[in-house]
Amino acid sequence: MARSPLLILDNQGVYQTHTSRFCIRSLTLWGKVCFGIGLILCSQLVLSQSNQNTKSNPANKNVATPQKGIQVNQRGQSKAVSGGSGLQSKSAAEQNQQLTDPGTEEYSQFDALPDFQVQRGCLKRGFREGNLPSRIGINDPEFLEYFKNQTVRFFDSASGPCIPYVVAFGKRGRFESLSIMNGPSRNEKSQILTFTASGFGGYLVQEENLAAQMQFWTELFIPLQEVLYDPQRLGDKLPVELAWELNSIVKQLYPDDSASLENSPKQVRVIVDFGTRDRWAQIWAVEILNLATNQVLADAFWLDRDDIPGSFFTANGDSIERSFWTNPLSYRRISRGVGQVPIRSRTNPNNPQAQGKDRRYRTHMGIDYAAPTGTPVFSVANGKVAFLGYSGAYGKLIIIDHPGNYRTYYAHLSNYNNELVVGNDIRRGMEIGYVGSTGRSTGPHLHYELRKNGIYVDPYNPKIQLDLWTMRPSDSGSFTKQLLMLGSIPKE
Ligand SMILES: [Zn+2]
Repeated sequence: MARSPLLILDNQGVYQTHTSRFCIRSLTLWGKVCFGIGLILCSQLVLSQSNQNTKSNPANKNVATPQKGIQVNQRGQSKAVSGGSGLQSKSAAEQNQQLTDPGTEEYSQFDALPDFQVQRGCLKRGFREGNLPSRIGINDPEFLEYFKNQTVRFFDSASGPCIPYVVAFGKRGRFESLSIMNGPSRNEKSQILTFTASGFGGYLVQEENLAAQMQFWTELFIPLQEVLYDPQRLGDKLPVELAWELNSIVKQLYPDDSASLENSPKQVRVIVDFGTRDRWAQIWAVEILNLATNQVLADAFWLDRDDIPGSFFTANGDSIERSFWTNPLSYRRISRGVGQVPIRSRTNPNNPQAQGKDRRYRTHMGIDYAAPTGTPVFSVANGKVAFLGYSGAYGKLIIIDHPGNYRTYYAHLSNYNNELVVGNDIRRGMEIGYVGSTGRSTGPHLHYELRKNGIYVDPYNPKIQLDLWTMRPSDSGSFTKQLLMLGSIPKE
């Protein structure tokens, strides 16, 4: 078992962790708990049998009855949909055939934007602490009772002038989750309680020991300018894929290219897990701080999810994931103005290697990114290699499986990363292949597809709200806990 690190407090109550980079971590209890909740609440929509995805539930028979709000557009002739019973008997060759079958169906979901609201603060002590929920807008008497019963000892251990809290409300102001900490200073005695509304009525509470959680995280402060303009130095501090990720996050959070950016002292506070052999390195929190005013200007937090890919969310609960899922070419292009693809926009990624020729356009089922032969192609998210080989019109093709029945396709490649084989685990930002013009292609470009349950999804369609970039009620508790653990504590 790895040793707990020292938690060193500075004057602002900001912690620093000193952690071994190579200690082994099993899944946290919290992760498991969330996974359980996620499994229960997350209703997987099986829209089609058209792929042989092993994660889909064979018992799910609602193929012919798409759920409310979901449409499957068919283009060209419709495919024969075979019965679920044949799934197990398919040969590997048949499965590959299905995997590499160019789709004719398009996924479209027109749900309104999810309603998710987060409030944070530090509630001054000296009142009856059991009333904290009603002071911050939670008025359900049943919850108030539950909260009082669960927090008697917790408040006995509290210290400092205020109780930091993060609360999340869902649709129509429904209470989703509340996390509180027993004081504004983070130290080895810090405890976090997280209350969540159970999907079956009633409430759940989770207790978390901060020290146990913090030992894998390292806090870095990097000047904003360096994050944006000095990738070389950034690369000295972070693994290259994290350097790119940080650059990309900060550009999304702080896209304004104004002169004031350069003239005021700003820093990026980053919480990072450097990972181990068995665990990918991961950025967990990013805050852009104005040193002059001591304000947090923008922030993003990583929410790890076992059943679907994780996502970066701002403290308001807005996901910034969509741009990651639409940038298979711009990874590691770490310079200002590169990879700045505004979410929900169809403007070009300003790719310097394309020498002004970079175009992205939708034809058939997929997005084509024009780029010179040999341009590196990167995985848009963590996953596993499901297919690697030549496949008809696709030419040289790599398919990556992501949790939650998502797949990404990278086609017409000139070559593969020759270290890859089917079954390899892949991290976001990993170089998987190189742009080419193999298969049915009229010039060098990357053909990219995102599919859910085998059905093509246009990741640029703003109306499509995939769980990839949505806060689900089952994510809420981990998110409020995370904000409390990793975010700057708001003033009381
Ligand atoms: Zn294409």
